[in-house]
Amino acid sequence: MNALSIKQLKKTYNNGFEALKGVDLEVKNGDFFALLGPNGAGKSTLIGIISSLVTKSSGKVTICGHDLDKNTAQAKNCIGLVPQEVNFNQFETVKNVVFYQAGFYGIPKQQALQRTEHCLRQMDLWEKRNSISRRLSGGMKRRLMIARAMVHAPRLLILDEPTAGVDIEIRRTMWQMMQEVNRQGTTIILTTHYLEEAESLCRNIAIIDDGRIIRASAMDTLLSSIHTEHFLLDLARPLTSVPLVDGYQIEQVSSRTLHVAVPKNQGLNQLFAGLSAQGVTVSSLKNKSNRLEQLFIDLVQ
Ligand code: ADP
Repeated sequence: MNALSIKQLKKTYNNGFEALKGVDLEVKNGDFFALLGPNGAGKSTLIGIISSLVTKSSGKVTICGHDLDKNTAQAKNCIGLVPQEVNFNQFETVKNVVFYQAGFYGIPKQQALQRTEHCLRQMDLWEKRNSISRRLSGGMKRRLMIARAMVHAPRLLILDEPTAGVDIEIRRTMWQMMQEVNRQGTTIILTTHYLEEAESLCRNIAIIDDGRIIRASAMDTLLSSIHTEHFLLDLARPLTSVPLVDGYQIEQVSSRTLHVAVPKNQGLNQLFAGLSAQGVTVSSLKNKSNRLEQLFIDLVQ
């Protein structure tokens, strides 16, 4: 059974704007799934419909086997949503933010307390349980949002930009936590602007653009369809002329930086040998953009 199945989903807003133009999507049970798209592509509309915040115009949404129209309560129970903006009561304690949420799902008190502790521990916030949530750091507030969304043990967790604006160190810690939640059996749908995040966490991916899914596949398959990788090379000395090496497209970015397009499977050995033969010494090399980012730009440009 799929955690999520969407058939021919359409949404036309009151002003006549068609935000979704017939979306089909399948997310397998246990998956860690990336939903990517440029601004205005329709991601929030899609997530809004799945989580019953936006009414669809037509189409069918099934969540963990429950038809969202026919078995709305069961379908909603299967979902935990972590929205983009911090929207808990910031004057509550950390513990109560999570505990009160359990009340919305009718979870008995004793069990709600257990679930609250479990979720706060999982998000490494148990030590902070008695703090007023307003005082938490940005990263902790994000984790509290995840803990709250998990209190009713949803089978499908939707994370909408969960790490937006959080610095890289904290983002990495959050990745580990999200991976652990997924390992324990929760299906995760992630939207993110950090394509490195999607690439390292997600097994499957759908790219949405202009209200349509333009690509849906396994992450590996998508990445292996990339034909060229782009690198930036820092040079030990300023260039006098742009070097030429057979099989590589080389452009000068500045006097000590080169941009090199490397065809798939070509490797870098010949490049370094060719540069060295022309007296060019490379002091460091980095990927110009991450692989998924390049592909994403190519697809939605
Ligand atoms: P994303 O989350 O991918 O940035 P959205 O789902 O928010 O995209 O929006 C998709 C399109 O629908 C955008 O062009 C947006 O302007 C439009 N849109 C979103 N909400 C409304 C609304 N309530 N009324 C009219 N148009 C809307």
